[in-house]
Amino acid sequence: MPEKVQRVKGVNDILPEEAKQWQALESVVKHVMEKFAFGEIRPPIFEKTELFARGVGEDTDIVSKEMYSFSDMSKSSLTLRPELTAGVVRSYIQNNLQQISPVQKLWYEGPMFRQERPQKGRYRQFWQFGAEAIGSPNPEQDAEMIALFFAILKALGIEKSVLLKINSVGDSESRATYRKALQDFLRPHLSELSETSQHRFESNPLRILDSKAPNDKLLVKNAPKIRECLNASSKTHYAEVLKMLEAMGIPYVQDDLLVRGLDYYTHTIFEFTSDALGAQDAICGGGRYNDLVKELGGQDVPAIGWASGIERLLLVVEALRPLEVASGLDLFLIVLGDELRLTAPKLVHEWREAGLSCDMDTLRRSMKAQMREANRQEARYVAILGEEEFDQGVVQLKNFETGEQEAVSFENVASVIINALSS
Ligand code: ATP
Ligand code: MG
Repeated sequence: MPEKVQRVKGVNDILPEEAKQWQALESVVKHVMEKFAFGEIRPPIFEKTELFARGVGEDTDIVSKEMYSFSDMSKSSLTLRPELTAGVVRSYIQNNLQQISPVQKLWYEGPMFRQERPQKGRYRQFWQFGAEAIGSPNPEQDAEMIALFFAILKALGIEKSVLLKINSVGDSESRATYRKALQDFLRPHLSELSETSQHRFESNPLRILDSKAPNDKLLVKNAPKIRECLNASSKTHYAEVLKMLEAMGIPYVQDDLLVRGLDYYTHTIFEFTSDALGAQDAICGGGRYNDLVKELGGQDVPAIGWASGIERLLLVVEALRPLEVASGLDLFLIVLGDELRLTAPKLVHEWREAGLSCDMDTLRRSMKAQMREANRQEARYVAILGEEEFDQGVVQLKNFETGEQEAVSFENVASVIINALSS
C-alpha cells in the first residue's frame, strides 16, 4: 500500500461539523463590521518579503524567526503573510485609497502563516480577522476600534469572560524619554537579564517588559512606567480614549507591562485575553500605528488596527457558549427500485431550485440504509418514491418529527415543505 501523506505539522483541517461554528462566527463578524461601516478588503496571501521586514520590523519575533519565505521564478524573496496590517497598508498606498475618503475603515479575514512551535492555540497556519482604520489621529477612532471588537464579543455572548488590557506607548518623543528611563533603570542589572533581553537592551528595550523569563519579570516589576513618561499630548490622547471607553461601558484594566511584539505601535495599544484559554490566552491584539503608512512609502497618515485569532476565539466560544448553527436538511429523497434511480436526480434538482436543502443516496443502497442516512443528516422530511408512487407522479412525504405521512405530487413537494417550515 502506498504510504499516506500526512498534514504539515502545525496546520489544521477544518472539517464540515467544525466549519459550521466557523461560519456562524464569520457571519457575526461580517454583521458587526457592517454595523460599524467597515468595508472588506482581501489582499494577497503572499507579498514581497521586504514588506514585512520593513513593515513589521526586523527585530520582531515574526520577522526574525517565524516567517515562511521562499523565492519564485523571478528570484525575488516572497513571504506568506504572517499578519495583515502591513499588507493592508501596502494596498492602501498602492491603490490610493485616501482619495476615496480621508478615513478608510477596512476589515479582513483569512489565513496567516508563522513558523512557531505548534501547541494548543498556536499553529503554523492560523486564521485571523482584523480591522484597520486609516486616516484619523483622534482618540475617538481608538475608542471605536476597541468598541468594534467588544461588539463582536458581545454578539458572541462572551464579553464577560474576556479582559481588555490597555496601555499607551505614546508618540516618538515619549518613547524616547521612556527608553532612556528604562535603560537607566535596567543598566545596573544588565548581566542578570536573560540573553534575549540583553540583546534587546540596545535594540528594543521596551520589549524587555514582556519577557517571559522569570528573572526578567521580577526585575521589570519595579521599572519606571511608560505612562509616567508620556508627554502632554500623548497623555491627553490616552486619557480621552479611556474616558470614551468608560462612557461606552467597556471595562478595561491598564497594564503597564503591555508593549506588544510589533515595532510599529504608537499611543494606544491593547490586548483582549481570556482565562478560558491556557498559556495562549490572547484572542485579540492591536494598537495605533501612526508612522507605518509613511514608513512604507505613503503619506503621513495615522492609523489604528487590531487582529483576532479565530481558532483561539472559537476555543473560548466552545468552552463558554457554542454558537447556534443551522442544522439538518429539509428533505431526503428515498428511492425504492433501481429503475427509479435515474428519475431521482431530476426531482432533487427541481426541489433544490425551488429552495429546499435536499439530498439523496448515490450508492444505490437499501431503503434501510437510505433511512439511516436521512437520519444522520437530520432531515426534517423524507420523500419516499416507489413504483406505485412514480406511476401517479407522487411521493410519500413523511414528517420525521411528527411521523405524519401523505402523498404529495412532485410539483407540490417544495411548497408543502416550505409552507410547513415557515408556519
Ligand atoms: P502571542 O503573544 O500569542 O504570540 P501575538 O502577539 O504574536 O500573540 P498578534 O500578532 O498580535 O499575536 O496576532 C493577533 C492574534 O492572532 C493573537 O491575539 C492570537 O489570537 C492570534 N495568533 C497569533 N499567533 C497565532 C498562532 N501562531 N496561532 C494561532 N493564533 C495566533
Ligand atoms: Mg506571537
